[in-house]
Amino acid sequence: MKNNYHTHTTRCFHAEDSDESYVLSAIKGGIKELGFSDHSPWNYHSKFTSRMRMGLQDFDDYYKSIRHLKEKYKDKISIKIGLECEYFPKYMNWLTTFVQQKKIDYIILATHFEGSDEDGVYYGYACDYNKHLDTYIENCKKGIETGLYSYLAHPDLFMRGRNLFDDYAAIKTRELCEFCKEHNMPIEYNLEGVLVNEMYGTQGYPHPMFWKIASEVGNDVIIGYDAHKAKSLERLDLYDDAYEYLKSLDMNVIETIPYRF
Ligand SMILES: [Zn+2]
Ligand SMILES: [Zn+2]
Repeated sequence: MKNNYHTHTTRCFHAEDSDESYVLSAIKGGIKELGFSDHSPWNYHSKFTSRMRMGLQDFDDYYKSIRHLKEKYKDKISIKIGLECEYFPKYMNWLTTFVQQKKIDYIILATHFEGSDEDGVYYGYACDYNKHLDTYIENCKKGIETGLYSYLAHPDLFMRGRNLFDDYAAIKTRELCEFCKEHNMPIEYNLEGVLVNEMYGTQGYPHPMFWKIASEVGNDVIIGYDAHKAKSLERLDLYDDAYEYLKSLDMNVIETIPYRF
């Protein structure tokens, strides 16, 4: 059985292809349950508009479109409606109400920005500085403590801009992995990261040193495509290689997500 709960749409401005083409590719790729989790909108207090997530005005169309596809393909694939959300402290009351009012199935936690994306640094590039790595880990932990999120996406995002996985990175990784384990929070092995590494010959995330520590801690892990193109969902080889790799580390690979609200 293969499921994927990390899928984007063009509403976030950096993904391609129609909603329906993701469903068709997922069916082709042998996926049994497909969760859409586009970058969530926020009800910003400022005039800021994000160029990497859907606007609040686009949410209803997102929901309607996926609900339509869920019905249309119900005999071929199970579809869930989710969102990929940050932990933005000042907007958490709003988010908590929003996801319940809108009857979203689940949300996943992804930490990209310090504070919020209105003025915070992007962790993907900032974490060469230990002070940003510290707040990255802190932010993930605060998010997990809310009990709202089904899993932590690309927990090792901080390695995208960090030069070395040094002793300090190892200490902070262990701290995060142990916290996730205590809180029954699965962590994601991110296949979009694998594609980026493959394409640019880089070693951002997933980072082998991170996953070695996660295997020692004994975290539950879920494989997520983080698809920004429909065709990514047809890359069976990516999923199979990840599965083999995680199994070789003796990790518990889970196929379904916990629902929190
Ligand atoms: Zn994205
Ligand atoms: Zn994503």
